[in-house]
Amino acid sequence: MSKNEPRRPAAIAPASPCPCGRDATYRDCCAPFHQGRATAPTAERLMRSRYSAFAVGDAAYLLRTWHPTTRPDALEFERGQRWTGLEILGTTGGSAFHTEGTVEFRAHYTLRGHTDSRYENSRFVREVGQWMYLDALPEA
Ligand SMILES: [Zn+2]
Repeated sequence: MSKNEPRRPAAIAPASPCPCGRDATYRDCCAPFHQGRATAPTAERLMRSRYSAFAVGDAAYLLRTWHPTTRPDALEFERGQRWTGLEILGTTGGSAFHTEGTVEFRAHYTLRGHTDSRYENSRFVREVGQWMYLDALPEA
Protein backbone atom coordinates (compact mmCIF):
# COMPACT_ATOMS: atom_id res chain seq x y z
CA MET A 1 0.00 0.00 0.00
CA SER A 2 1.39 3.38 -1.04
CA LYS A 3 2.33 5.94 1.58
CA ASN A 4 0.41 8.40 -0.56
CA GLU A 5 -2.80 6.45 -0.05
CA PRO A 6 -5.39 9.21 0.12
CA ARG A 7 -7.67 9.57 3.06
CA ARG A 8 -11.12 8.49 1.98
CA PRO A 9 -13.53 11.41 1.66
CA ALA A 10 -17.08 11.38 3.00
CA ALA A 11 -17.99 7.74 3.38
CA ILE A 12 -20.17 6.27 0.70
CA ALA A 13 -21.98 3.27 2.10
CA PRO A 14 -23.06 0.32 -0.02
CA ALA A 15 -26.68 1.47 0.32
CA SER A 16 -25.90 5.11 -0.51
CA PRO A 17 -27.08 6.50 -3.82
CA CYS A 18 -24.30 5.85 -6.31
CA PRO A 19 -22.09 8.93 -6.74
CA CYS A 20 -22.25 8.52 -10.53
CA GLY A 21 -25.86 9.72 -10.54
CA ARG A 22 -27.61 6.65 -11.87
CA ASP A 23 -30.78 5.76 -10.04
CA ALA A 24 -29.20 2.92 -8.08
CA THR A 25 -27.31 2.27 -4.87
CA TYR A 26 -23.53 2.25 -4.90
CA ARG A 27 -23.67 -1.50 -4.15
CA ASP A 28 -25.80 -2.21 -7.23
CA CYS A 29 -24.10 0.27 -9.53
CA CYS A 30 -20.38 1.09 -9.49
CA ALA A 31 -19.15 -0.96 -6.51
CA PRO A 32 -18.95 -4.27 -8.46
CA PHE A 33 -16.66 -2.55 -10.98
CA HIS A 34 -14.48 -1.01 -8.27
CA GLN A 35 -14.21 -4.37 -6.53
CA GLY A 36 -13.29 -6.18 -9.76
CA ARG A 37 -16.38 -8.41 -9.68
CA ALA A 38 -17.70 -7.05 -12.98
CA THR A 39 -16.52 -4.94 -15.89
CA ALA A 40 -18.36 -1.91 -17.19
CA PRO A 41 -20.43 -2.95 -20.23
CA THR A 42 -20.26 0.42 -21.98
CA ALA A 43 -17.89 3.36 -22.20
CA GLU A 44 -20.47 5.50 -20.39
CA ARG A 45 -20.71 3.06 -17.48
CA LEU A 46 -16.92 3.00 -17.29
CA MET A 47 -16.84 6.80 -17.27
CA ARG A 48 -19.47 6.87 -14.53
CA SER A 49 -17.58 4.29 -12.50
CA ARG A 50 -14.37 6.31 -12.84
CA TYR A 51 -16.20 9.39 -11.59
CA SER A 52 -17.48 7.31 -8.65
CA ALA A 53 -13.92 6.15 -8.03
CA PHE A 54 -12.88 9.78 -7.65
CA ALA A 55 -15.80 10.27 -5.24
CA VAL A 56 -14.83 7.28 -3.07
CA GLY A 57 -11.06 7.79 -3.45
CA ASP A 58 -10.29 4.57 -5.34
CA ALA A 59 -7.04 5.42 -7.16
CA ALA A 60 -6.29 1.76 -7.93
CA TYR A 61 -9.47 1.47 -9.98
CA LEU A 62 -8.69 4.68 -11.88
CA LEU A 63 -5.24 3.38 -12.74
CA ARG A 64 -6.35 -0.07 -13.82
CA THR A 65 -9.06 1.34 -16.10
CA TRP A 66 -6.55 3.74 -17.70
CA HIS A 67 -5.03 2.59 -20.97
CA PRO A 68 -1.41 1.47 -20.43
CA THR A 69 -0.16 3.83 -23.15
CA THR A 70 -1.47 6.95 -21.40
CA ARG A 71 -1.68 5.85 -17.75
CA PRO A 72 0.27 7.92 -15.20
CA ASP A 73 2.49 6.11 -12.71
CA ALA A 74 0.44 7.29 -9.78
CA LEU A 75 -2.55 9.38 -9.00
CA GLU A 76 -3.04 11.80 -6.17
CA PHE A 77 -6.34 13.25 -5.14
CA GLU A 78 -6.70 16.92 -4.39
CA ARG A 79 -7.09 17.23 -0.65
CA GLY A 80 -10.55 18.31 0.39
CA GLN A 81 -12.02 18.01 -3.07
CA ARG A 82 -15.57 16.65 -2.94
CA TRP A 83 -17.24 15.42 -6.10
CA THR A 84 -20.85 16.54 -6.05
CA GLY A 85 -22.37 15.41 -9.33
CA LEU A 86 -21.82 14.15 -12.84
CA GLU A 87 -23.58 15.28 -16.01
CA ILE A 88 -23.22 13.17 -19.14
CA LEU A 89 -23.51 15.60 -22.06
CA GLY A 90 -23.15 13.19 -24.95
CA THR A 91 -21.71 9.89 -26.09
CA THR A 92 -20.57 8.28 -29.35
CA GLY A 93 -19.96 4.57 -29.90
CA GLY A 94 -18.99 2.87 -26.67
CA SER A 95 -21.50 0.02 -26.68
CA ALA A 96 -20.84 -3.70 -26.43
CA PHE A 97 -20.67 -3.64 -30.25
CA HIS A 98 -17.95 -1.00 -30.40
CA THR A 99 -14.25 -0.93 -29.57
CA GLU A 100 -14.08 2.86 -29.30
CA GLY A 101 -16.27 5.49 -27.80
CA THR A 102 -16.39 9.01 -26.44
CA VAL A 103 -18.16 10.39 -23.40
CA GLU A 104 -18.56 14.12 -22.98
CA PHE A 105 -19.23 15.14 -19.41
CA ARG A 106 -19.13 17.81 -16.78
CA ALA A 107 -18.09 16.76 -13.27
CA HIS A 108 -18.99 19.05 -10.39
CA TYR A 109 -16.99 19.47 -7.21
CA THR A 110 -16.31 21.69 -4.25
CA LEU A 111 -12.83 22.62 -3.15
CA ARG A 112 -11.83 25.01 -0.38
CA GLY A 113 -15.34 26.43 -0.19
CA HIS A 114 -15.70 27.01 -3.93
CA THR A 115 -17.88 25.12 -6.34
CA ASP A 116 -16.42 24.38 -9.73
CA SER A 117 -16.63 21.81 -12.48
CA ARG A 118 -14.42 19.98 -14.89
CA TYR A 119 -15.47 19.48 -18.52
CA GLU A 120 -13.98 16.79 -20.70
CA ASN A 121 -14.74 14.85 -23.86
CA SER A 122 -13.01 11.57 -23.08
CA ARG A 123 -11.95 8.83 -25.44
CA PHE A 124 -12.33 5.19 -24.44
CA VAL A 125 -11.21 1.97 -26.07
CA ARG A 126 -12.30 -1.60 -25.39
CA GLU A 127 -9.65 -4.30 -25.34
CA VAL A 128 -10.22 -7.91 -24.31
CA GLY A 129 -13.70 -7.03 -23.14
CA GLN A 130 -12.56 -4.21 -20.87
CA TRP A 131 -13.33 -0.56 -21.50
CA MET A 132 -10.44 1.73 -20.66
CA TYR A 133 -9.94 5.46 -20.52
CA LEU A 134 -7.54 6.62 -23.25
CA ASP A 135 -7.34 10.41 -23.21
CA ALA A 136 -9.23 13.66 -23.56
CA LEU A 137 -10.14 15.06 -26.95
CA PRO A 138 -9.04 18.66 -27.49
CA GLU A 139 -11.84 21.14 -26.97
CA ALA A 140 -13.52 22.09 -30.24
ZN1 LIG B 1 -22.65 4.24 -10.31
